[in-house]
Amino acid sequence: MSDLNGTVIAAHGRHYLVEAGTEKLQCVTRGKKSDVAVGDSVKLQRTSANQAVIEAIDERNTLLYRSDQYKSKLLAANVTQLFIVVATEPGFTDDLVSRALVAAEAAGVTVRIILNKIDVEESLEKTRQRVALYAGIGYPVIEVSARAYPDATRDTLIPLLQGQSSILIGQSGMGKSSIINLIVPDADIAVREISEALDTGKHTTTFTRLYFIDEQTAIIDSPGFQEFGLYHLTEGMLERAFPEFRPHLGHCKFYNCHHINEPDCAIRTAVQTGEINPMRHALYLQLLHESSQKLY
Ligand code: GDP
Ligand code: ZN
Repeated sequence: MSDLNGTVIAAHGRHYLVEAGTEKLQCVTRGKKSDVAVGDSVKLQRTSANQAVIEAIDERNTLLYRSDQYKSKLLAANVTQLFIVVATEPGFTDDLVSRALVAAEAAGVTVRIILNKIDVEESLEKTRQRVALYAGIGYPVIEVSARAYPDATRDTLIPLLQGQSSILIGQSGMGKSSIINLIVPDADIAVREISEALDTGKHTTTFTRLYFIDEQTAIIDSPGFQEFGLYHLTEGMLERAFPEFRPHLGHCKFYNCHHINEPDCAIRTAVQTGEINPMRHALYLQLLHESSQKLY
């Protein structure tokens, strides 16, 4: 009989920290099961004052994957929205942004782009133009400056986070930690606690963790996160993960068109007329190629 319910707030190898009410319990799974993700809602069997075994994982609403050597591994469960943090400087890569967008679309997770460091005026206009590609596809862009306008940044982000389970991702240097520290005031203390509880070693802070802001509001940070796992996506899932492709799907000459080099391809025609950005089509082709390389 399970006696407790909780949420997985950190994972390090096969060790998990689960928040259950006011307690934080060190947990392992039964046997060799390792398909638990941060954000999972779990049933526990207590084994000692601060330890428990994960007996069952509740059904997930969403699941995001990270890439691990041509395999997709679990990144976070039950996320409702994903924020991609980019900045005026250093430059961000469109590849990472688009892969994140595809991961979110495929998982059914709402996605927004945070443009940070808008105080850096020299590169603001250039960056706005780059981000306009994504705004044009329909992704909201939120402009903030964690360092120059911290109060305004908090006031902008807090209402968007309320009642959601949000994950923030971004290349290093974009200001993701600065934003997390603004919205989770005791983040550093929480990380130290988790690190001790999971015995991750003094200098290991790269585990994925979840912070509760209140009972309904969670923020997930995954430092060291490199790349989303997209290998599990089928071709049909991939093409639908590009929202700007959707109006053209079904209009190719061949019903099973891959949109690579087939004649009378509605997607490639849309690239030629400028309705679809060539960079996005190229990424689609790259992802299609990668998913054909997957290992089982
Ligand atoms: P992370 O690697 O994405 O977690 O980025 P950090 O939060 O560590 O920030 C990287 C650097 O950018 C640090 O030197 C921050 O002080 C700086 N930074 C963060 N936000 C802003 C901002 O809004 N404006 C400016 N000018 N610098 C910022
Ligand atoms: Zn086609």
